[in-house]
Amino acid sequence: MLNRGDRLVIASHNQGKVIEIADLLRPLAVDIVSARDLELVEPEETGKTFIENAVLKAELAARAAQLPSLADDSGLVVNALGGAPGIYSARWAGPEKNFDHAMRRVSEALLIAGNSDKSCSFVCALALAWPDGYTESFEGRVDGTITWPPKGKNGFGYDAIFTPLGRLQTFGEMDPADKHAMSHRADAFAQLLRSCLQC
Ligand code: IMP
Repeated sequence: MLNRGDRLVIASHNQGKVIEIADLLRPLAVDIVSARDLELVEPEETGKTFIENAVLKAELAARAAQLPSLADDSGLVVNALGGAPGIYSARWAGPEKNFDHAMRRVSEALLIAGNSDKSCSFVCALALAWPDGYTESFEGRVDGTITWPPKGKNGFGYDAIFTPLGRLQTFGEMDPADKHAMSHRADAFAQLLRSCLQC
């Protein structure tokens, strides 16, 4: 259980992600410190699922810092591609992090698969680990369809090819506040906050 003022490590070396997570955790009033601030080693993501990757990052940070630690792992799951790019979503963009290339790769893989099923989801796993080995995890998702060509300049990653169910605009076209209210990350953090605030 987390109490107001407790120190919590965000197990990420990505400063943008740490700032976004700190904002989402504001209702808990915890004292955030990042893995980079503590000079913790960044582990290789060797898990086979989003949850496994989030758990391995959170557990390593919790052991190293002897503090509760939170990690996330997220990505795009395309059903006709057997779940790809999935946990490899960031890696599909290559070392130069070229998401125009990654989005084209999704579209080309769908053409090669010859499948008219364009259904997909964004998934966000969160793991909260304590130094004694206790870990809790949560998985949020938002379902949608792949849109080609990409539309919109907002957001990041695969946003320009993801149209959430029931909407006409891609995440890349939507007002960021609208995206943040319905995203896989919002779903996962709502579950985490419910769990932490009710204990
Ligand atoms: P992570 O930082 O290892 O979790 O990698 C997540 C990758 O999944 C990112 O680099 C993006 O490619 C993709 N991704 C996750 N969430 C989103 C999102 O909200 N919009 C677009 N792409 C996303």
